[in-house]
Amino acid sequence: MKVIVVGSSHGGYETVRGILAAQPDTEIQWYEKGDFLSFLSCGMQLYLEGVVKDVNKVSYATPEGMQAQGVHVFLNSEIAKVQPDQHTVHVIDHASGQERDESYDKLVLSVGAVPFDLPVPGHDLQNVYAMRGRDWAMKLKAKTVDPSVKNVVVIGSGYIGIEAAEVFAKAGMHVTVIDLLPRLLSLYLDQEFTDILTKTMTAHGIYPAVGQGIKSFEGQDGHVTKVVTDQGEYPADLVVSAAGIRPATGFLKGVVDLDDHGLIKINDHLQTSEPDIYAVGDATLVPFAPTGKDNRIALATVARRQGRIAAQNLLGGDFPMVPVSGSSALSVFDYHFASTGIKEGTSDKLGVKSASVLVTDTIRPKFVPESDGNTKVWFKLTFDPEDGRVLGAQIMSKADVTANINAISVAIQANMTVADLAYADFFFQPGFDRPWNIINVAAQKALVDLK
Ligand code: FAD
Repeated sequence: MKVIVVGSSHGGYETVRGILAAQPDTEIQWYEKGDFLSFLSCGMQLYLEGVVKDVNKVSYATPEGMQAQGVHVFLNSEIAKVQPDQHTVHVIDHASGQERDESYDKLVLSVGAVPFDLPVPGHDLQNVYAMRGRDWAMKLKAKTVDPSVKNVVVIGSGYIGIEAAEVFAKAGMHVTVIDLLPRLLSLYLDQEFTDILTKTMTAHGIYPAVGQGIKSFEGQDGHVTKVVTDQGEYPADLVVSAAGIRPATGFLKGVVDLDDHGLIKINDHLQTSEPDIYAVGDATLVPFAPTGKDNRIALATVARRQGRIAAQNLLGGDFPMVPVSGSSALSVFDYHFASTGIKEGTSDKLGVKSASVLVTDTIRPKFVPESDGNTKVWFKLTFDPEDGRVLGAQIMSKADVTANINAISVAIQANMTVADLAYADFFFQPGFDRPWNIINVAAQKALVDLK
């Protein structure tokens, strides 16, 4: 069997790994249009902040290592066309300029997404950067130590924008974060959390400019100097545009079924509308566990799970993809937060009725002094007000208690209710937590509200 895998980030890498683990003698051709194999953007902040020194280390695989396992690796090689009837792809080798067709028995597309380019005047000025992939990582790194950069404007306050903002604030620059939405990080956390985080960010040199739409980027001599919104002007020596992503699926129009945003429609076995073509990762529509409907969830965790499952299915397995809840975590200066599923602030948009309870507490028993790390925790549990089904949760603390969110993700996947969680068995040891885990406490409170 000959398998062609397109794209070498999380989804592509996991697919190749999955095939190698299950049937190492499979003929695998692995194509990447960039010049580097398997760069992982999730490690970009660690590189930009100097924790990881070498940009080339932000990767799981090398061409040599994969070739040693029998994988045929093609860099600078773009799949420009797919011909399902002939079971062939058209390859353009950008290094040599040569083109050719390659046949496949099974094809896996993990083509991902590219940063959304805001269609406003000045978007093509120099110093308007994005934060995705190795090339941008190296360009951004140079700006962290460029003394001419005093003012940085970040567009978009999702986790990528906030990572960028933190990098440049830590580098001593004045950072403005502009978002159309009324709160920073509002797709990840409700207001009780974002109020605290916004205060912390401002104290560290990150200034929110929310509820504002970008009108233009203006500049001099081809370089951006300010960002103009519908409410103000912000000086900028560097703009980091993190206002969303666009699936890299232009070449797939008319080949496999796409939705209106260009996301690839797949079934629960990761097959596209062409059964021998599988698709995984940021370019796909994903089943969202809290609603049971397809959604866009651009996370490495999802791409990884899909890649592993696609690998098994294309080799003849019968493994349906588990619905996911979009669990993610982030540190913002001293705080660590995580969230999963539906929030109070996102339920309307998803057409879901929800109720929530908020619990604030210390992470360990009251008798443990603060000097021993006994700090505050905020936990919000969101559930269906009719039947108590768990829909989502958010947690935040200066201690790292984010792993609690994984328990909620499993509860959502298993269709559990707040009644199931109220007395669920969680460990206690005063060095870690309280006799009643914060999940128990919140679920018990929710049960009272349900009555
Ligand atoms: P992508 O990562 O988009 O990669 C697609 C690859 O395919 C690219 O290398 C591209 O060059 C190649 N390609 C595209 N088209 C073609 C073609 N026609 N021919 C050949 N090659 C092609 N997720 C988390 O879960 N946790 C995190 O902490 C996290 N942090 C992140 C931080 C940042 C700054 C960013 C940008 C993302 C982060 N993510 C995180 C999201 C995560 O990186 C993505 O969900 C993941 O990379 C998606 O993988 P993918 O394989 O779908 O595609």
